[in-house]
Amino acid sequence: MTPTDLEARLRAARAAADARGETFYPGPSRIHLARFPPKERWDDWVELDPAAWPERVARRYALVPTTCFNCESACGLLAYVDRDTGVVRKFEGNPEHPGSRGRNCAKGPATLNQVTDPDRVLHPLKRAGARGEGKWVPVSWDEALADIAGRIRQAIVDGRHNEVMYHVGRPGEDGFTERILAAWGVDGHNSHTNVCSSNGRAGYQYWMGCDRPSPDHANADVILLVSSHLEAGHYFNPHAQRVMDGKAHGAKLIVIDARLSNTATHADHWLATYPGSEAAVLLAIANHLIQTGQYDREFVRRWWNWAEYLDHAHPGAPCTFAQFEKVLRDLYAAYTFEFAAAESGVPAGTLREVAEVVAGAGTRLSTHTWRSAAAGNLGGWQVSRTLFLLNALVGAVAVEGGVFPNAWNKFVPRPIHLPPHPHTWNPLTWPAEYPLAMNELSFLLPHFLEEQRGRLAVYFTRVYNPVWTNPDGFSWIDVLTDEILVGLHVALTPTWSETAYFADYVLPTGHASERHDVHSYETHDAQWIGFRQPVLRALRERQGQPVHDTRAVNPGEVWEENEFWIELTWRIDPDGALGIRQYVESREHPGQKLGIEEYYAWMFAHSVPGLPERAAAEGLSPIAFMRRYGAFEVARGLGAQHEEPVPAEELQDPAEDRFGRVFTRAPKPLPVNLVPVPTPDPDAQGRRPVGVRVDDRVLRGFPTPSGRLEFFSRTLVEWGWPELALPTYVKSHVHPDHLEPGQIPLIPTFRLPVQIHTRSANAKWLDEIAHTNPLWLHPQDAARLGGLRTGDLVRVSTTIGHFVVKAWVTEGIRPGVVACSHHMGRWRLHEHGQRQLMAAVALERAGAGRSLRRRSGVVPFASSDPDTLRIWWTDVGVHQNLTFPVHPDPVSGQHCWHQAVRVTRAETGDAYGDIHVDVDKAHEEYRAWLARTRPAARVSPDGTRRPYWLLRPLKPGRDLYRLPETGAPAATR
Ligand code: SF4
Repeated sequence: MTPTDLEARLRAARAAADARGETFYPGPSRIHLARFPPKERWDDWVELDPAAWPERVARRYALVPTTCFNCESACGLLAYVDRDTGVVRKFEGNPEHPGSRGRNCAKGPATLNQVTDPDRVLHPLKRAGARGEGKWVPVSWDEALADIAGRIRQAIVDGRHNEVMYHVGRPGEDGFTERILAAWGVDGHNSHTNVCSSNGRAGYQYWMGCDRPSPDHANADVILLVSSHLEAGHYFNPHAQRVMDGKAHGAKLIVIDARLSNTATHADHWLATYPGSEAAVLLAIANHLIQTGQYDREFVRRWWNWAEYLDHAHPGAPCTFAQFEKVLRDLYAAYTFEFAAAESGVPAGTLREVAEVVAGAGTRLSTHTWRSAAAGNLGGWQVSRTLFLLNALVGAVAVEGGVFPNAWNKFVPRPIHLPPHPHTWNPLTWPAEYPLAMNELSFLLPHFLEEQRGRLAVYFTRVYNPVWTNPDGFSWIDVLTDEILVGLHVALTPTWSETAYFADYVLPTGHASERHDVHSYETHDAQWIGFRQPVLRALRERQGQPVHDTRAVNPGEVWEENEFWIELTWRIDPDGALGIRQYVESREHPGQKLGIEEYYAWMFAHSVPGLPERAAAEGLSPIAFMRRYGAFEVARGLGAQHEEPVPAEELQDPAEDRFGRVFTRAPKPLPVNLVPVPTPDPDAQGRRPVGVRVDDRVLRGFPTPSGRLEFFSRTLVEWGWPELALPTYVKSHVHPDHLEPGQIPLIPTFRLPVQIHTRSANAKWLDEIAHTNPLWLHPQDAARLGGLRTGDLVRVSTTIGHFVVKAWVTEGIRPGVVACSHHMGRWRLHEHGQRQLMAAVALERAGAGRSLRRRSGVVPFASSDPDTLRIWWTDVGVHQNLTFPVHPDPVSGQHCWHQAVRVTRAETGDAYGDIHVDVDKAHEEYRAWLARTRPAARVSPDGTRRPYWLLRPLKPGRDLYRLPETGAPAATR
């Protein structure tokens, strides 16, 4: 069935349902999925057991909402708890969730596999032999907590705050753990963002202050994706269903991807561009809009900081919009379709056709990129910057069918305690070489530790697997096995991982139905909060049986992290003398430990506008409402907040700079919404920025230094990158000019729709669907390599090593490029592990050489789940990331994932899954990329480490921003 057939059938089904008088689900989903259990019957829902068919066996369920934990989208789930046995039988979508609207991808229902996984970690374990040796003994939570708390306390008492680090992969929550770190006074937050989305973020940030887009796909006329959003994009299911809504209404879909992804198969226009050329294509489209006058002149005149640009770049010229338009035409004139065709390999005629489609969208142009091309390339942040240029040209910003700043479409409630940010700066995560890094230079940590820039007394990895996920994993293994560099490694994880093998404690934490969190994401023009909860605890409480420790209802000794962090914090400062304990104390019972029920009850009662009233209308307390429905829509249709006038009472002793930025002495009101937004600098007299003058009115504007959309970034000019201050094209490190003879680009950045990094390897339904990652190779390249056929072994050589993988010869990729998904190639060194999807391997070391040799693939095994005896697959793919050197973008800090590789037939002695790396070469490559940076000491315009206005998860005070060399306070204490 073609997409057009499908859409026609969908429309016909809807029309028929309307004709029958069927109603849409009345909750926030507002969609036609008539079979959702109505919420009034969630206490006692009866349905037939499909497994008992053909017998008609009725099952009675209590339906309890929670939130999926398998990707960043945070879709709502409903746990179907068997009322007779108290066991969760399945997970389906939650129709009360405004973001996911009752729908899930395959990974949502597969939460059940994760909960019942026979290989999951159920009890705390302590290392018995040498680190990495694979010997473990059970340990009590109490003993583990005492040890960990004692070491953290000692580090704090000794002033070694920077030796405490928490390194998170999937946060799945909005700020709880950052606040715990702030309570400890440590600048110890480390994230995965620089191996994920920093380049995507940076391009948006320099335009609008906010670092993410919130596209309104459902109402767009043209949807332009530099991604594979219909199968794996950021906010995958919530956005994918809205892309399909848009298509069902007639929107045209344009997809830029070297691969024929599932998303590209649904496109009206698929542009199979050469990797790294995406910005050239986008600039050619922009140039077409500019040269033909097909842009929104009034929007550009009112909202771009063009006057600031003219003042900087053309100081003698008249500062008029007409002058700017003339300059704009000149600036982009070189980005012709012919130029873009030469860079991308897509014919100029096709690009012209697509440019006209974009021009026809008017303001209904929704666009998105996040990882993909942005994450793959040196300068990839210009992909998102040039993509948003199209929106900014046609005025498709914060309007229906356009793109909104994410901070307007997200809501973060205020918690019961809000500790101040730490008074320390950690150069292990925020090194001076990268003053403009979007996030922590997380993936360089092994090199920083080896260079003796610091050490770690206590290092937490939490739902994070850097040995497997990050590039250069052997360097991670080397430092994690060094007990001087890493004193204690605590792995907080629901499952075994390659990194957990190198821990001292493996502590079992919960899956989606076993923990509390709140979260909110920019899925559309609305604000909502979702509530993840331990479903069996919530059910007990619904039945009048309070639970005070989630371990009482979770399997084994699995603990939720909120309770773990509160307990750990209490033990770090048991008498409150360090000033830490106050942040985990009860308000209802001063001097006692804060309980989870009080924490969330306070938040929902005091910090979520409209929730208390909505709950009261149903005779519920706010927390009872959230426990019952799992989500709440705070607001919808936020619209163009930049156009809001600043009220007169906020303009106390106002001042205005020559570009119209307006400042005030009025105190900043306590924000209702704690969503992170940048903090543009005050004026010389200390007034805070409050708005921007547009014509004769002071409007709220954007959270940028200028208050406008920053076509021109003064920040980039002042911090050493003037050549990149405008949306422009950077030749990638895999640009043909930079390749040696015989090298071609490898695209390793794409996900598989039914897997998610480390956590889903124990989900049997998903493993059966997808369990390998062959190398995509065009038939022309296969022929060039001597007639390679699908299944043949090939050796893929990077600059530091090689891996051996199977070829998949397909026309679904452009010639001259190869691709391999990063979602496969899991391995285990010992008997512990996820046996459904981890190959058994041997790790070998010889000088600087590191190798993995496969001992066996997956085999059936006996377990508590009879299905593990039915495993029919043996292949689990190959771990390619181990063979990648680090490639930090010198501006954003993002690891640029694409690799220049040589693909050859496997050599004699090569075996499937072989991996070899030279770690000395890996370190050399790190030094080479480090040399591309422009360190703060060289470029800082004001003696600080980093522009203060840029986002930072933990944000030390301004005094800590000063570079140590200036005589300012010491960097660390
Ligand atoms: S998109 Fe899929 S994996 Fe991600 S949160 Fe939604 S259901 Fe879970």
